[in-house]
Amino acid sequence: MRRLIPLALVALLLAPAAPAAAAATATGPTATGYGGAVASVDPTATAAGLKVLREGGNAVDAALAVAATLGVTEPFSSGIGGGGFFVYYDARTGRVSTLDGRETAPRSMGEQAFVDPATGQAMAFQEARVSGLSAGVPGSLATWDEAARRWGTRPLAAALRPAAQVARDGFPVDATFAQQVSDNAAAFAQFDPTARLFLPGGAPPAVGSTLRNPDLAATYDLIARRGTGAFYSGEIGRDIVSTVQHPPVAASPAQSWQYQIRPGGMTLSDLRAYDVRRPAPTKVSYRGYDVYGMATPSSGGSTVGEALNILEKSDLSKLGKTQALHRYLEASALAFADRNRYVGDYTPRPLLDALLSDGFAGERACRIDPAKALAKPVAPGAPDGRYDRHCATTSGGATPDKGLSTTNLTVADKWGNVVEYTLTIEQIGGNAIVVPGRGFLLNNELTDFNFTPTQGTAADPNLPGPGKRPRSSMAPTIVLQHGKPVLALGSPGGSTIITTVLQILVNRLDLGMTLPQAVAAPRASQRNTAAITAEPAFIDSAEGRALTALGHSYTPMAEIGAATAIEFLPHGKLLACAEPVRRGTGSAGTVR
Ligand code: GLU
Repeated sequence: MRRLIPLALVALLLAPAAPAAAAATATGPTATGYGGAVASVDPTATAAGLKVLREGGNAVDAALAVAATLGVTEPFSSGIGGGGFFVYYDARTGRVSTLDGRETAPRSMGEQAFVDPATGQAMAFQEARVSGLSAGVPGSLATWDEAARRWGTRPLAAALRPAAQVARDGFPVDATFAQQVSDNAAAFAQFDPTARLFLPGGAPPAVGSTLRNPDLAATYDLIARRGTGAFYSGEIGRDIVSTVQHPPVAASPAQSWQYQIRPGGMTLSDLRAYDVRRPAPTKVSYRGYDVYGMATPSSGGSTVGEALNILEKSDLSKLGKTQALHRYLEASALAFADRNRYVGDYTPRPLLDALLSDGFAGERACRIDPAKALAKPVAPGAPDGRYDRHCATTSGGATPDKGLSTTNLTVADKWGNVVEYTLTIEQIGGNAIVVPGRGFLLNNELTDFNFTPTQGTAADPNLPGPGKRPRSSMAPTIVLQHGKPVLALGSPGGSTIITTVLQILVNRLDLGMTLPQAVAAPRASQRNTAAITAEPAFIDSAEGRALTALGHSYTPMAEIGAATAIEFLPHGKLLACAEPVRRGTGSAGTVR
């Protein structure tokens, strides 16, 4: 999100640092240089990360500064009320590790949690979302703490304190921020603490005004002083629990809301029980590169990985752009069919490995007809280790589309460590409930569960359950070649995250685009639905039109995703890249 940073804030973020010549640059969506790099959606956050790098912090220290700042300046897409997935390449060991900081269902949550007991039907999405019911136990703060302890060189408090200062001093409201409030005005108006913070005087804050969040500043300071126990077992946790159990509903909201606002069942013992998991990353080889991603409960790694394996069966660089894009769309639809059928929090690792096997990809790839788009939804395949049958299928269906929120950051340091981190509170604005006196929104991540079975059988891998984590699409991805990073990338965008990451990889690795071109290129997302969700520029392109002759059709969407990425060029040169246009433009910078 582009925001003009007041000079005083720039001075604060950069002082008392190095001389001007060494000053970090966070100028625009693309930056090339040395000594470390940061890309995020927001210039204040990118500047905070660059400052840490310049002062000798490593990629993890800087990523946590970026994340904590985004919690202030991008409160509708991230923050300590949410969760995310953190992927880390350690230059010393050459290993890629992941942290699963996904929100978790309370122990009281059953399979029917989102079925209205009065009607026996699945709740409307907004009814489920704007409630205490949708809030999972937040994982972001525990993720930050785990990353700082495991790989950082400074305590988490060092990331929280400057971000608290940004919250205290305030930051300028830009058009994207004001629009996000306005899109949520009715939901925000239902809750006194949310309306007080984000609807001053009953309306969205004016573009150019300064938004201050002293409650969040005090919350960050308290955690910096007392540690994450203040959140997971102390006074902040008690406030979270009482907010979930008794949503602070306004007595006379400025706007009406057609749904009942339901409480949730989260308890302090659910918060105390939260743990950050450390699953092995997913890994596939793609044309000589090793592509590492996020394992379950995210479907990011498995779905991007399966689609790449399918695509590797043909040489896209020799096919011509229309045919290459046709295969990209078909591979994505096939991989989504398998994701929907098999991937959830409890997918056994051998099944995940089978989904990522070359044998299974071969069986799936044989379904692609170069002359004609498959009828969608395609059925899932059978990842059973017996891949001699021709194009085996079972039954299953597509999953519906949901909203687009979340944020992504990419950081590299001068030692060669890399962080790729996607974090979220699910919908833009989460569940719309600010914890009173604490200054942050709660997530609605539990609506990422399927409300009722979607697969034509009771065996849906993504139904709610006690202590279960909802399936995600977040796909923080790090690409190595001969053990060294070549590319790191990720994006927000609900289930389009998967296709955005996949399309950028194909653009960069197969179609001869530079990284900025690969990120800027018009996007199309085929998630096993009848029509492809696509940006107008894709639909109107020569290839977009040619694809309709193969039977593809489109549902337009103004914009898809908001990627950030870093490419590792020869001799330590870094190319940091954010969106040139989408989400009001992103912010990339290098240390030198
Ligand atoms: N909740 C989504 C997921 O985990 C991300 C939210 C979004 O980007 O829209 O996949």
